[in-house]
Amino acid sequence: MQATHFLIIFILVTHTLNSGMWWVAGSWMGLSRRASKHWMLSNLCYGTGLLLTVLYAKDPDLVQWMLAGMMVVVGAVSQHRGMQTFLKLPDTRFEHAALMLAGIGFALVVALPMAWREAGLAACFGATALVMTHLATECFAPLKTEFGPQTAWVHTVLMALAVCTFAGTAAGLLFPEWPRPWSQVASEVVHSWLVMGSLTLSILSSFVVGYIVVMRLVRRLEHLSHHDGLTGLLNRRAVEAMLDREVQRLQRFGQPFSLLLIDIDHFKRINDRLGHAAGDAVLAAVAAALKEEAREVDRVARFGGEEFCVVLPHTDREGALHAAERLRSAVEGLRVPWGEDLVTVTISTGLACADDQSESLSLLLKRADMALYEAKGAGRNRVVLATPFEAGALATA
Ligand code: GH3
Ligand code: MG
Ligand code: MG
Repeated sequence: MQATHFLIIFILVTHTLNSGMWWVAGSWMGLSRRASKHWMLSNLCYGTGLLLTVLYAKDPDLVQWMLAGMMVVVGAVSQHRGMQTFLKLPDTRFEHAALMLAGIGFALVVALPMAWREAGLAACFGATALVMTHLATECFAPLKTEFGPQTAWVHTVLMALAVCTFAGTAAGLLFPEWPRPWSQVASEVVHSWLVMGSLTLSILSSFVVGYIVVMRLVRRLEHLSHHDGLTGLLNRRAVEAMLDREVQRLQRFGQPFSLLLIDIDHFKRINDRLGHAAGDAVLAAVAAALKEEAREVDRVARFGGEEFCVVLPHTDREGALHAAERLRSAVEGLRVPWGEDLVTVTISTGLACADDQSESLSLLLKRADMALYEAKGAGRNRVVLATPFEAGALATA
């Protein structure tokens, strides 16, 4: 079996697998549906283009070569469109149409009738290099923001290598008289290396794009597992893990913190009077108000139902009382529009300060809960400070 046969099989296998992967990702798994379709088309076009150049490497037939050039342009445009869709970047369809017209149009209308094989291919590769340049520059900032600098740089370097390959090949086709270090090497060997290089770049690009799609999915799942769907606040599991860490910090370094357990007063009445949807709207509005009023370092969570929990790191009794009162007054001032109504609510808060290294998390929560219960009993819409921890006193309570 010759090296060419290996190359053909390799191109067929890799690009069929890549295209199949994007088809499965978009159609079956529902991952970035529109972007996946663009990337599938891009892989099919690159694969066909590469295959044609290998199959007709020794054949001077103009049509196959022009077709290969056109496939590469369409592949690059699809790759760019996929990234624009995925990263929600502005659509540049006019620029794409202009570049496709310049590359493919020239190849079809001028190069084909005039039998200018080199000029036609150079036009296609030049247009491809321009699309790739835009792709590299446009995606750097959004990739860096969402996936970090390493991912952004890897993508940019790959695209820059692709630009160099296409622009260099276009220049080589247009100016064959230019001196080149590999002038002694047989043209079939140079062609094979070019194909291998393009193939490697195409596979690596697909790999990087696959990585960012999976990373976005992983981050979304991570976010869902730590956040409440209705209010967007941290959920109970996340805040309990955070409280665990705060207790450990207190035990190791003596850093105190405070905890607020908040419950909406007479919330059931809102559900009964206006319906569950109104109750949900009030929950979301209260959550937003608590988040807005809390400091950047404080953590606000939905503890369950109409109960919230706020963790105030590095905060002593006075600071926590002040913060709790601020939150209470912010919620009291809320007016939640619902149909003709403006719904008002109040909250009761149980405040417990963790400043004793021997207190466990469950005891701290118990103290806060008892203070909340007291606030309810005392008439609601108030903050009650929990009785300070005394070793042994609450353990049996
Ligand atoms: P209190 O002042 O004593 O706290 O009275 P309350 O009515 O707020 O307390 P109760 O525990 O009797 O009622 C809480 C209600 O919250 C009952 C439940 O149906 C409602 N609830 C819990 N989760 C949700 C939710 O996600 N959406 C809505 N709309 N209601 C919820
Ligand atoms: Mg409750
Ligand atoms: Mg309540």
